Amino acid sequence: PYTGPSRAEVIALRKQYVSPGVITYYKEPLMIVEGKMQYVWDETGRRYLDAFAGIVTVSVGHCHPKVLEKVQAQSGKLQHTTTIYLNPVLGQFAEKLASKMPDGLTRSYFTNSGSEANEVAILSAREHTGNTDVIALRNAYHGGTSTTMGLTAHGTWKFKSNQTLGIHHTHAGYCYRCPYGLEYPSCDLKCARDIEEVIRYQTPGEVACFIGEPIQGVGGAVTPPKEYFQIIYEIVRKYGGLCYADEVQGGFGRTGEHYWSHQHWGVKPDGITMAKGIGNGIPLGAFTTTEEISKVMNNRIHFNTFGGNPVSMTQGLATLEVIDEEGIQENARVVGGHMKDSLLALQEKHPIIGEVRGLGLMLGVELVRDRKTKEPANTEAAAVMERMKDRGVLLGKGGLYGNTLRIKPPMCITKDDSDYLTAMLDEVFTELQKG
Ligand code: PMP
Repeated sequence: PYTGPSRAEVIALRKQYVSPGVITYYKEPLMIVEGKMQYVWDETGRRYLDAFAGIVTVSVGHCHPKVLEKVQAQSGKLQHTTTIYLNPVLGQFAEKLASKMPDGLTRSYFTNSGSEANEVAILSAREHTGNTDVIALRNAYHGGTSTTMGLTAHGTWKFKSNQTLGIHHTHAGYCYRCPYGLEYPSCDLKCARDIEEVIRYQTPGEVACFIGEPIQGVGGAVTPPKEYFQIIYEIVRKYGGLCYADEVQGGFGRTGEHYWSHQHWGVKPDGITMAKGIGNGIPLGAFTTTEEISKVMNNRIHFNTFGGNPVSMTQGLATLEVIDEEGIQENARVVGGHMKDSLLALQEKHPIIGEVRGLGLMLGVELVRDRKTKEPANTEAAAVMERMKDRGVLLGKGGLYGNTLRIKPPMCITKDDSDYLTAMLDEVFTELQKG
């Protein structure tokens, strides 16, 4: 049993000494003291199904034994020196990553977070092309540093004092809330084609890059029509820009059918940014690109003290090995497909479910007060999260209105876990409807 400081003590310290910018979920913040595979425990010993995986980060399971064994051995041997000295595991992990990449993406730069990986990606594109302008998608999340806060396109995440120059936003492929009120496919993908107008009106006609999440994470599992990214990539390349996929949430088999979420859309990026699931819960990010593009990182000296540290490299390598050895991607496909079917069945029954979307174990359930007006059911989404927690299931939420439930568990989740989750959702929706 847990013997550490009490919940009240933990809250008191947090209130007095931690920046108020560090927020918590839930009316009564949850304290988690232990994790094993798809489950976590609070200080009272109560177990929860972790269907949000520490915000889509614990990919193969909390404290996965094979990952733990390797990282503990490395921690006991050498924790840190920095990349100015040789360490065997840096190259080994980079090689493993390259083996998973589309052809030609062989060179990795390691960071400690997704924001930093995106910073390096944008810097590389600007250096490589000599252009400044970057296009991102509305409803995107790419990080909280200066440039990546600029890429992020939700007012909630933007500070007034940080107005990054040279970043423009085009429409996401968000059919449920089509900005033109059109229907797919007769819309002819106007949302994707709009990027050409953005480039022609808002840039000198040459751009550094486009960056997009193949399925938007924080935005609420927004999944575009299949041609969407092909159109975007073609237009961006016409104007001299590189095309990047932010795979921080969608990568590493989570979307089931493919290892990378961009592969669903038949496009080949010039660079991929990663974090979260890449390290199963350790601070680790990466940007992988072509040999040619990677060369610009030599234009000056760029350095990241912890990027590439032996502990993170070991945990990253062990995580990727477990994804291969334990059929994690296939499990995401099978259990994710099963869960999506169950959620679609719930949609038949509960009018509050406006849309069920996503692929594999990257799913979103958008809640609305009225299916015709699509008025966002944001307070209801918060209530669902509270009630699901009371039933032992942790969910996330997202989207501009905070009305989309996000389900992205560790990918070792079972069909039984999925059935429990959807049965509890069924109960909660029924309860809410009764008022
Ligand atoms: N890209 C995406 C798609 C993300 O979801 C996030 C984090 N939510 C980031 C980048 C930023 O990652 P980090 O918080 O590790 O900086």
